[in-house]
Amino acid sequence: MEGGGRLYYAATEGSWLLEAPCEECAGFVLDLRVSDPTEQSTARARADSYLRHVHRIACAGCESLERRQTQPPAGEGVEVWWDAASGEWLGATLVDGTSVCLPLGVRTYWARRDAEAAASLLLERGVPVRVAAHPAECEPEAHTIFYDVPAGSWALRTACPDCGGCDIRLIARGRGSVARACEQAQGCVERIATTECPNCRTLRERSVERDPDGPPALWFDTVLAGWVAWMPVEDGGVTLPVGLTRFDVNERQLLLAASGLQL
Ligand SMILES: [Zn+2]
Ligand SMILES: [Zn+2]
Repeated sequence: MEGGGRLYYAATEGSWLLEAPCEECAGFVLDLRVSDPTEQSTARARADSYLRHVHRIACAGCESLERRQTQPPAGEGVEVWWDAASGEWLGATLVDGTSVCLPLGVRTYWARRDAEAAASLLLERGVPVRVAAHPAECEPEAHTIFYDVPAGSWALRTACPDCGGCDIRLIARGRGSVARACEQAQGCVERIATTECPNCRTLRERSVERDPDGPPALWFDTVLAGWVAWMPVEDGGVTLPVGLTRFDVNERQLLLAASGLQL
């Protein structure tokens, strides 16, 4: 293997790993993010490319040690770097003159853009949304966006201690539109913060005993992935889709669409 690296499959991690050698820092282990044990050739290609184009120029292990020993010189904006010791991207910025360093929750080395987007959300806007390079990297305690490969679009996995959260489809399509996905996720998280968890609401609305003379109800149904309205009719009631699927739709548009439903 190029430069004396060692490639192996770790069943405990469920992934191919590369041991990158270094005389200075004694080396480090890089998760190649190839989960199939039979995909050795893919893992090898990734490992070779990393050793040849990145590791030979600068050792991430040495860089991480240096970053840890000296406070990162965070100037304007956010600096991100791969921390070889913890195996995730870190971000640093200046908050009131103090350098603040935070893990970004992105554990795929090849997802630098995701890490940068996560950094700007976390550190610049202070929005508690994380960016995961892979759905498996979503953490149950933080709102996280991830790229849904089969759907070809980004999704927000919400965090909720009561129902466990849900996935909300975002309109940002394509892997590269992470900044747009962050924007929209921010709107969704703000709506959750000012109202309530849409999944808890859905569970409640779907199980409630309704009074046929009661008032209509309007909610984002996480099962149908769209806004729905319940309206009383003779001897009962009906639930109808409003025709809007964006959770962060603006209030006026929502009310207009709902008021257009006539029975
Ligand atoms: Zn090193
Ligand atoms: Zn909930």
